[in-house]
Amino acid sequence: MCVRNALNSPVTHTTLRITLTCPPMIIRTRALALQIRPWSKTSHMVTWLTPDYGKIVTAVKGACRPKSAFLGQYDLFYTCDLLFYRREHGGVHAIRECVPTTLREPLRHGWRQAVAAAYLADLTAQATVGQQEASAIFALLTLALDRLSLTQSSPCELIPWYEIHLLRHLGLLPDFTLCPLCHTPDRTWLRFSLSAGRFLCPHLARHQPGEAAITLHRRVQPLFQHLCQLPSPPPENHVPAALASKKYGADENLLLGLSRFLGIFVTFHLDVPSAVRRVTFEMLNTTHTQKFALLENCSS
Ligand SMILES: [Zn+2]
Repeated sequence: MCVRNALNSPVTHTTLRITLTCPPMIIRTRALALQIRPWSKTSHMVTWLTPDYGKIVTAVKGACRPKSAFLGQYDLFYTCDLLFYRREHGGVHAIRECVPTTLREPLRHGWRQAVAAAYLADLTAQATVGQQEASAIFALLTLALDRLSLTQSSPCELIPWYEIHLLRHLGLLPDFTLCPLCHTPDRTWLRFSLSAGRFLCPHLARHQPGEAAITLHRRVQPLFQHLCQLPSPPPENHVPAALASKKYGADENLLLGLSRFLGIFVTFHLDVPSAVRRVTFEMLNTTHTQKFALLENCSS
């Protein structure tokens, strides 16, 4: 339809007038600062997680100028009251106002907690999309960052807990159900299919040649289920204590096994670079290849 015909059509005419006169939509929302990147010498691109609009990116022009209204109003891991002009089709939105409501100041001092928080924020930024509500993930990340900010304990139990619940909210939770015929108690090691997201079992589907699978100790399964049922991050040494109370062998490094599994599973399904997680754990002195058991590190 040519422009003249379009203008003569009453319906299109109305639509055009609305489009031309409609101001940009102003949105007020709570927002968690996930990433801050320099954009020019004085400006920032800030990636936020919001409950109703998922991941959004705002440009903050002149953010670093001495008289900027945004100085001190946002930083990594802050929760802010954000006012922005929403673009209909995503992309970069323009920020109008920003007031911090939760600063989580201890994360500026405890480097271990900051490293863990940076990993969780980066993983969340990679795993979430824009234009889609994310209230459950917003609440999850708020819980995790609050915990990191309030305690000086090792984050080695909090990270697997967060990854499990993030996968659950994304609809990617691994299925740790055991088959009573195939996964009998005498089998210590079980094969888990990465692509199918469950233990290999010929009753459900035959193992395809070349199907990526990893071997897990069977006691990782109840540990996974245990963390899955915890509504808030486990307190320090909670996992070793839970294992001890169930008389699990202290020599088996189950948390390390679960953490290693989650690293592979998250990389496989969320398409995130494995190096970020590896470097995070190296900095936290709890690498997968390290000789010392993670359970021992946690209890020291
Ligand atoms: Zn079976």
